[in-house]
Amino acid sequence: MSARRDTVEAPDWSAYRGVLVFVEQRGGEAKKVSWQLLGEGKRLAEKLEVGLIALVIGHQVEHLAEEAVYYGADKVFLCDAPELRAYRTRPYSRVAMKVIDEAKPEICLFGATGTGRDLAGAIATHLPTGLTADTTELDVEPHPSRLLLASRPAFSEKMMATILCKQYRPQMATARAGVFQALARDTSREGDIIRIASPMTEEDIATEVLDFIQGQEKVNLEEADIIVAGGRGLGGPEPFALLKELADALGGVVGASRAAVDAGWIKHEHQVGQTGCTVRPKLYFAIGISGAVQHTVGMSGSEVIVAINKDPDAPIFQTAHYRIVGDLFKIVPAITAEVRKKRAADRAGGTAAPKPPAGAIAEAALLQERSGGH
Ligand SMILES: Cc1cc2nc3c(=O)[nH]c(=O)nc-3n(C[C@H](O)[C@H](O)[C@H](O)COP(=O)(O)OP(=O)(O)OC[C@H]3O[C@@H](n4cnc5c(N)ncnc54)[C@H](O)[C@@H]3O)c2cc1C
Repeated sequence: MSARRDTVEAPDWSAYRGVLVFVEQRGGEAKKVSWQLLGEGKRLAEKLEVGLIALVIGHQVEHLAEEAVYYGADKVFLCDAPELRAYRTRPYSRVAMKVIDEAKPEICLFGATGTGRDLAGAIATHLPTGLTADTTELDVEPHPSRLLLASRPAFSEKMMATILCKQYRPQMATARAGVFQALARDTSREGDIIRIASPMTEEDIATEVLDFIQGQEKVNLEEADIIVAGGRGLGGPEPFALLKELADALGGVVGASRAAVDAGWIKHEHQVGQTGCTVRPKLYFAIGISGAVQHTVGMSGSEVIVAINKDPDAPIFQTAHYRIVGDLFKIVPAITAEVRKKRAADRAGGTAAPKPPAGAIAEAALLQERSGGH
């Protein structure tokens, strides 16, 4: 069997060149994963010596085409029409297929979000071509094979599978948010913006979006700039209220280790790590979390990490930028009080541009460290 498979020649795909990234947006605001994928897409495009293409679909999203260039795209296909305001599978997939037909990219990347998964699945089945879902590692083989090596955890995350698409183009993948790094936004970057007409009118579209109801309770860890995460050290569900107070003071959200989730103290949607979310916020608090690799793999890309733990030898301190050794029940309320005081002072002083919260809290953390963590 394998001998026969090896002798099957791959078709000539030389007409397909370039890496395309779908820029997902809602209400004109791009999902962070879009910029992260442009960063990763750039790396792949450079290895293949081709251009990076962005695809922006929506209504009144012209600014996102420019942003895509600032985040690394050489060329942007922009389809801006009223019927594309809210995501719907058919009109969005029609636009994407039109662009794929025109641009002939060899690789297409989408965020592994609800929208990204739906859209990528619709396109892949229509074309048809291969799609690897929820990848966490991407690479390419050099010319002449130019194969996308799309890797994702498999078998309950116990092993990594690298999946190839040898016989069809483009090679498609959805990728997890937070895993890849965006390039620094550079307003001096230049690129071509190509406007295309929407291939469907409202009358052609079978579905209608009546309303969009944002889930009230749903935590969006992947998009959060600040995460205050707690672990088994909290000792029960109640102390998560302390973490929520700190998160609210900072404008962040609450995260958790698996131990806290497994204990039933908080819902799985808050879990950070290998079997939870991968996050890359500006500021991450690890509170009463030991720092097992399955946890740190999901948060070590955070810009600033503050760890609070009573054990000076806790492994989390190797990942943290700011280390606070002490009892979380004393330290967390003290930091919350400090942040609130600083925010009130900023407001009273009428500061036009308050300090970035990451900086402010890093200072607060340092104060705690200097005062012995108590
Ligand atoms: C296949 C697999 C997948 C996994 N996926 C994940 C995942 O996605 N995410 C994840 O988090 N884990 C995951 N785990 C579990 C992981 O290995 C650890 O068991 C888990 O992260 C431990 O959680 P913890 O740090 O909260 O608890 P512990 O390791 O028990 O650490 C608690 C910490 O709290 C400190 N502490 C206690 N009291 C206080 C106090 N009063 N003040 C300050 N500090 C205090 C202690 O010193 C200790 O360091 C996975 C494991 C496996 C095998």
